[in-house]
Amino acid sequence: MKCGRRTFLSIAGLLGGLILTNSFNKNLFGKTFSINKKNSKMKLTFKSYTLELKHVFTLASSSRTTTPVMFTQIEFDGVVGYGEASMPPYLGESQESAAKFLSKVDLTKFNDPFEIESILEYVDKIEPNNPAAKASIDIALHDLVGKIMGKPWYKIWNLDKERTPFTSFTIGIDTDEVVKEKVTEAEEYKILKVKLGRDSDKRMIETIRSVTNKPIVVDVNQGWKDKFFALDMINWLNERNVKMVEQPMPKEMIDDMAWLTEKSPLPTFGDESVQRIHDVIKAHGVYSGINIKLMKCTGLREANKMINLAKSLGMEVMLGCMTESSCAISAVSQLSPGIQWADLDGALLISNDPFEGTKVIDGKVVLSDSPGIGITKVLPH
Ligand SMILES: [Mg+2]
Repeated sequence: MKCGRRTFLSIAGLLGGLILTNSFNKNLFGKTFSINKKNSKMKLTFKSYTLELKHVFTLASSSRTTTPVMFTQIEFDGVVGYGEASMPPYLGESQESAAKFLSKVDLTKFNDPFEIESILEYVDKIEPNNPAAKASIDIALHDLVGKIMGKPWYKIWNLDKERTPFTSFTIGIDTDEVVKEKVTEAEEYKILKVKLGRDSDKRMIETIRSVTNKPIVVDVNQGWKDKFFALDMINWLNERNVKMVEQPMPKEMIDDMAWLTEKSPLPTFGDESVQRIHDVIKAHGVYSGINIKLMKCTGLREANKMINLAKSLGMEVMLGCMTESSCAISAVSQLSPGIQWADLDGALLISNDPFEGTKVIDGKVVLSDSPGIGITKVLPH
């Protein structure tokens, strides 16, 4: 189609006005990006992959040694953006469901990757649920657009790279001896994360305290069913340099949870209770903060909105992850400058990461300067 007209496009928040011409130029922040519109169509491809875990991963309800993921690519005008859907089995998505969903996504109807809002609104409306599959499109699209602009997203969002948080490092439930070994191996991390919600909770904390007094955050994964018991536990943990408690009670126990947060000496964070942006309002007054994960909330676009909403409500924010490669971890870490709580150790727990990007150095999240979500591919997948 010949298109000699000029049309002003509006794109997400900070990106300002763009001018569309035949082989259109995008003028963003004083830099012009040329895109050959004639033959340019966005092409989505995807491939399943299995992340191998370095250690058996144990939650209150299950154990596993691998995590299924789906890697996506969106190609446009010779530039490739990468994305990832991580799908721990207990969350209900699978490589099959992701493949089914992604097969329905037709990006050829869009000829401008900068229409991020429109594209992701279209993707979100194809079907309900499938948040990780949706995130794999969101991440690849952000990677693509950032690469076209030649900038990493933390710069596009005007965030200060020096203000990235320290990440917690998860110590899985195990025998006393193995727990002590893992704590010793985790020396470089400033904050430990411990999964609780079993009969052995106090013993686990005491085992760690026999080797280190560094701060601990705990994730109960809905494991405490009684608010008085939960409050006793939190008071006990507070005396042992524990700094916060994630999802102490089942997500349905809203009134008990609000009571617990009011009485708790430690901040409480909703994780299973908070999936998408509409859950932030529901969590207000129930938890002190929310744990945002790309695989729950459909990606960077919505995560960014959730951060702003939570902050405006006076709530604390934590950025979390599933077991993910450096692809999804590098994406979410673009949002991390200025965020106090981070649990972004997902890529550190796997042995076959096909990407390199965000690193953790002396426990701190360190962003790369590569454009887009800041990754380079190091292994075929
Ligand atoms: Mg959690």
